[in-house]
Amino acid sequence: LPGCLLLLSLSSCSTMQENKDKVIENKIETLLSKMTLEEKIGQMNQISSLGNIEEMSVAIKKGEIGSILNEIDPVRVNALQRVAVEESRMGIPLLIARDVIHGFKTIFPIPLGQAATFNPAVAEEGARVAAIEASAVGIRWTFAPMIDIARDPRWGRIAEGCGEDTYLTAVMGAAMVKGFQGDSLNDPTAIAACPKHFVGYGAAEGGRDYNSTFIPERRLRNVYLPPFEAAAKAGAATYMTSFNDNDGVPSSGNEFILKQVLRKEWGFDGFVVSDWASIKEMIPHGFAADEKDAAMKAVNAGVDMEMVSYTYMTHLKDLIKEGKVKEDVVNEAVRNILRIKFRLGLFENPYVDEKRQSVMYAPEHLAAAKRAAAESAILLKNNGILPLKETVKTVAVVGPMADAPYEQMGTWVFDGDKAYTQTPLKAIQAQYGDKVNVIYEAGLDFSRDKNTTGIARAAAAAARADVVLAFVGEESILSGEAHCLADLNLQGAQSDLLAALAKTGKPVVTVVMAGRPLTIEKEVNQSAAVFYYFHPGTMGGPAIADLLFGKEVPSGKTPVTFPKMVGQIPVYYSHNNSGRPATRNEILLNDIPVEAGQTSLGCTSFYMDAGFDPLFPFGYGLSYTTFSYSNIKLASGTLKKDDVLKVTFDLENTGKYKGTEVVQLYVQDKVGSVTRPVKELKGFMRVTLQPGEKKSLSFELPVSELAFWNIDMKHVVEPGDFALWVAGDSQSGQEIAFKVGE
Ligand code: BGC
Repeated sequence: LPGCLLLLSLSSCSTMQENKDKVIENKIETLLSKMTLEEKIGQMNQISSLGNIEEMSVAIKKGEIGSILNEIDPVRVNALQRVAVEESRMGIPLLIARDVIHGFKTIFPIPLGQAATFNPAVAEEGARVAAIEASAVGIRWTFAPMIDIARDPRWGRIAEGCGEDTYLTAVMGAAMVKGFQGDSLNDPTAIAACPKHFVGYGAAEGGRDYNSTFIPERRLRNVYLPPFEAAAKAGAATYMTSFNDNDGVPSSGNEFILKQVLRKEWGFDGFVVSDWASIKEMIPHGFAADEKDAAMKAVNAGVDMEMVSYTYMTHLKDLIKEGKVKEDVVNEAVRNILRIKFRLGLFENPYVDEKRQSVMYAPEHLAAAKRAAAESAILLKNNGILPLKETVKTVAVVGPMADAPYEQMGTWVFDGDKAYTQTPLKAIQAQYGDKVNVIYEAGLDFSRDKNTTGIARAAAAAARADVVLAFVGEESILSGEAHCLADLNLQGAQSDLLAALAKTGKPVVTVVMAGRPLTIEKEVNQSAAVFYYFHPGTMGGPAIADLLFGKEVPSGKTPVTFPKMVGQIPVYYSHNNSGRPATRNEILLNDIPVEAGQTSLGCTSFYMDAGFDPLFPFGYGLSYTTFSYSNIKLASGTLKKDDVLKVTFDLENTGKYKGTEVVQLYVQDKVGSVTRPVKELKGFMRVTLQPGEKKSLSFELPVSELAFWNIDMKHVVEPGDFALWVAGDSQSGQEIAFKVGE
C-alpha cells in the first residue's frame, strides 16, 4: 500500500491491510462453504500441461485442477483460464506456474553468479525483470528462489543457489523474493515466489542429487533454515518441499519443518507445494507403503498442493472417509491456496493482456542483464596483463565457450532464445574489433570434446597473437538437476588445449564459464590471468568484453570456496575448529606454508597431500585496482545484548582504476555452549572509490545478530569473548576482539 503511506499513518495503513485480509478471509470461507470435497481436492492438484487444451478443459470444468505448470502461450493460458473462471462451477481461477529461475527470456547469470555480485539490488532487479517477462504470458508463480546452502560442488544444483553461506544466501534470496513479487502480489507483473527446496536438499550425501541428508536440528536451524526464514519475512507466498529425507524423514512428510517451523514459528500463511512427484517418491524412500499412505503422510504433514503425482486426487476422498485424514486438514490446505490466488488478484483479473509481449528482451532488461553479468565476473588471478593495454594489437580468441550462445546461459533455461545471446567472440568483434585484430580458432567444438585435432590450429592462432583469450568451462547441461560430477577437472580436452596455448609462450587469459567451481589449480598456474564466470546469461559476452578491455573493473567475489581437488570436499570457510593443533612438523612435512598453517589451519584437520587450504577462499576476488583497509576500530569493545556493535574503518583505493570493493564483516564467537564456526559472515557492502580516494565507513550490527541455537536449542546470544574481521575475503584481515556481557 505505498500510496496510503503518504496519506495515513503507518498504523492505519496496517489496519487497512488487516481489513483487506479480513475481506479475503471472508471470501475464502464463502467459497469453501460452497465447494464439494472433490472441488477442494482439485484445488490441491497441480498438473504439468497435458498439451491438449480440450483434454485439460474437461478436467478444469469439473474443478479437478488448481494449478498448471508449463503453459507459456498467453492465448492458451487465457483459453484455459476462461474455462476455469466461466465454465467451472466455482469459477476459481487457475494458477499458472513455471520454473523461472534466472530469467524468462532475458537470461541473467545463474543464481550462483548473481551471488558473486554480493549485490542484493542485482538479484532483486534480475527477479523483477524475470517477473515482468514471465507474467506477460500469464505465468503468476515461479519455483524460485532456490536457497539451498550448498557446500559440495559435485552437486550439480549448486548452480541454482547462492552458494555456501547462510547469510549471503539469506540476503540474496530475500531480494529475489522481493523482485519476483514486486511491491504487491496484486500487480499483474507480480509472480508468487517459491523458496525451495525446504529443506536441507543441498547437503545431499556425496553431492549426489536426491540423496539423503543427515542434518541434526541445531545445524538445520543455524545453517540451513535462516535463508528460508528471511524469505518468509520478505513475504514469500509459497514454499516447496525437497526430495531428500533428512535423518530418515522425507521433507514431503516432515511435520516438524512444515508445521512447527514454517507455520508456527515463522507465521507463514501461504501454501506449500510438493516437489515434482516427491509425495509419490516417499514410497521408494521406504517411508510410505503405497500411494495412499504417501498421500496421507504428505497432507497430514502439511503439503497443501501436490505437484504432478495425483495421489491426492486418487486417495484423499477415501482417506477422509476412513478417518485417516480430517476434512479440516483439506479445508486448511484449500484456504492456503485460495489465499494466494486472492492475493495475486486472480479472481478480479484472471486474464493476461496478450498485447504485453513487447516486454521480452526490452533494452532495459538487456542492460540490467549486462550489469549483472559484469558484476558477477570474478577475477581470480592477474599478473598485470589485464585490462588489455593499447599495445595489444592482435588477440586470439579460442576455446569451446567463446561462441556457445546456448551454453553460456546455464542451467534451467527453457524460454531464453539463444538467438538473443551475445557471446564473448561476437561482443569482442563488435565492441573492440576496431582496436584489435581478432583471430578465432575454437580448438575444441564443445566443452566435453575429446577430439584434439583442432588444438594445433588454436595454438597456431595463439602464436600469431599478442594475447590469447581462452574461453573454457562447462556446457549448461553439466550442472543443474541430476547433473552431479565426481570429477571436477575441466572436461574433454580443455586442459590439453590450455597447456598447448601456454606452450606458445603467449600470455593466456583464461575465462572459465561454468555452473560450479572447478578444480583448476594447474590451469590457473599456467594462465597470466583468470576470470571465473558462473554461466553469465544472455549478456555474458558484452560484459566480459568490457571487463577484459578495461571499460569495466571487476568486483565479483567467490560465493563458494574453490577446492584444489575433489578429495577436499566438503571445504567451506565457516567450519568448526577441531581440537588438534597442527604441528609445525606436519605443516612443513606436507609442504604447506607455515603462514597458511597459522591462518586457516590453526586447530583443525587436513590432508597429507592437499593440506587444508582451498584454491580460493570464500569471498575472494581481485580488482584492477587495489584497496587498503586501515583504522579498524570498535566504537565500544564491551557490549550488552541489546546494543548495536559499531565498527568503523577507512577504505582507500590505492591503485590506478576506479573500482568497487565488496567489504565483508566476519564474526567469531570464541566459546559457546556448543562449538561455533571459526568465522561467519555477518555483513557486507559494496564501496566504489576513485583512484586515491579514501572513505571512512562503518558496519552496525545489532548484538542480537550474534544469536545462535545453543545447547538448549534456544536462539540466544551467549555472553563472552568474540572476534571480528573487516576484510576483502574470508581469509584476510586482522582479528579484533570484543566482549558481550549479560
Ligand atoms: C525440481 C524443482 C522444480 C520442479 C518443477 C523438480 O524436479 O527439483 O526444483 O521446480 O521440478 O519443474
